[in-house]
Amino acid sequence: MALMTGDQYISSLRGLGHHVFIQGEEIQDVTDHPISRPPAMAIAETYFQAEQKEKQSLFTAQSHITGENINRFTHIQHSVEDLVKKILMLREMGRKTACCFQRCAGLDCMNTVYAITYDLDQAYGTDYHQRFVDFIKYVQTNDLVTAACMTDTKGDRSLSPSQQEDKDQYLHMVVEKKDGIVVRGAKLHITGAVNSHELIVVPTRALKEEDKDYAIAFAIPADTEGVTFIYGRQPSDTRRLEEGRSDVGNLYYGGYEAMVVFDDVFVPQERIFMKREYAMAGRLVELFAAHHRASYGGCKVGVGDVLIGAAAAIAEAQGTSDASHIRDKIAEMIHLNETLHAGALASAGKGYQTASGAYAVDALLANVCKLNVTRFPFEISRLAQDIAGGLLVTMPSLDDKDNPQVGKYIDKYLGGTADVDSEKRMRILRLIENITLGTGAVSYLTESIHGAGSPQAQKIMITRLADLESAKKYAFKLCGINLRDDKSRKV
Ligand code: SF4
Ligand code: FE
Repeated sequence: MALMTGDQYISSLRGLGHHVFIQGEEIQDVTDHPISRPPAMAIAETYFQAEQKEKQSLFTAQSHITGENINRFTHIQHSVEDLVKKILMLREMGRKTACCFQRCAGLDCMNTVYAITYDLDQAYGTDYHQRFVDFIKYVQTNDLVTAACMTDTKGDRSLSPSQQEDKDQYLHMVVEKKDGIVVRGAKLHITGAVNSHELIVVPTRALKEEDKDYAIAFAIPADTEGVTFIYGRQPSDTRRLEEGRSDVGNLYYGGYEAMVVFDDVFVPQERIFMKREYAMAGRLVELFAAHHRASYGGCKVGVGDVLIGAAAAIAEAQGTSDASHIRDKIAEMIHLNETLHAGALASAGKGYQTASGAYAVDALLANVCKLNVTRFPFEISRLAQDIAGGLLVTMPSLDDKDNPQVGKYIDKYLGGTADVDSEKRMRILRLIENITLGTGAVSYLTESIHGAGSPQAQKIMITRLADLESAKKYAFKLCGINLRDDKSRKV
């Protein structure tokens, strides 16, 4: 089986047997709980899309390992076209779900570890790459979801991992055995964690020799003994517990993150992809960051499409769509959204082949894309709220519409233009509220700042990757400064 159906994916989650806690209680089935079902359905959409014939060129690819037709969310990219198609696929998924659909963090991590294990073998004579190829083969053949477990809890951030008073603030190796290692620690903000079959664990930062026990990468099944998932809380998440659950804005999907605890977890030898090669940890983090920062110029742009559509629809519903300032605001939103997409596509277009044969995006452009993502969705959201008007946050519940005493007032006073009834207007407003203030805002706003690294991380990379010395030379040449003769020059 190289392609799982969406229904098979849902069934596979039911049978996972992993330990998941939501709001103080362990739950048995993530696909059945009102809070965790929408995120599971968002990932299921990556399977439903691949099932459709007309979507297959975007959502499937040929595996370079097995030769089979596989879901593109498990594909190791081998051309610029692959890099571009990934971005286009993520935008399409953002449009379908209006949230973080979670599966790309694992995809980007797989592409990263594929390239890094090759480099590790070249540098240290290890056999990590073949182990990882075997793992990828297993993932592709069974069409599995993988979660990228990267961010450590970090404790006192002024201290390195080995300097921490509590050594578990960064995930590390506590025991080394003949047939594997035992690890302890916790990873935060793990996208898609409870909806994944496999967890890929990697370091979160560059490491020094004294931190070498923290330089580990491995993959384990989600139901491995000692692994516990604690679900992240989101604004308005308990609205999903309301009877009928229809007044939540996005009726079907949602993103989420979870804390994943590794309490003395055994990792077998064949699933270890880095062990103590601390000098390569920084390169791994940077490569993952480049892949995932480019991804944001796909997924967030798709969510932006939905928000722009909702803003245009509410303007029509309220009779303001012909006002010049509204048209100007919509144009501004489109401009910002497409600028995000342009950065991601450019980073893919300037992609390059790594020594492993897999392709990676241009890191400078990927970081520029992501730095824009930390800003533009906020401006797009501001404009959407401006267009929507204050009713966005003062509107009664849809339940009031069903009440025999006050429903008639809702219908009479909250309708829009002649052809727009109160329910239509309220549903559009609720969707805008969800994306800019509710559960959806976790995916569209806060994740846009901090996901794949906070803004300062992008600025550091942009400064490091930009060729300032060449730029200065261009300037000197044009203004007549002779670099060779000018002994006083500081460059
Ligand atoms: Fe995918 Fe975007 Fe979510 Fe990252 S933030 S996992 S790229 S949908
Ligand atoms: Fe993310």
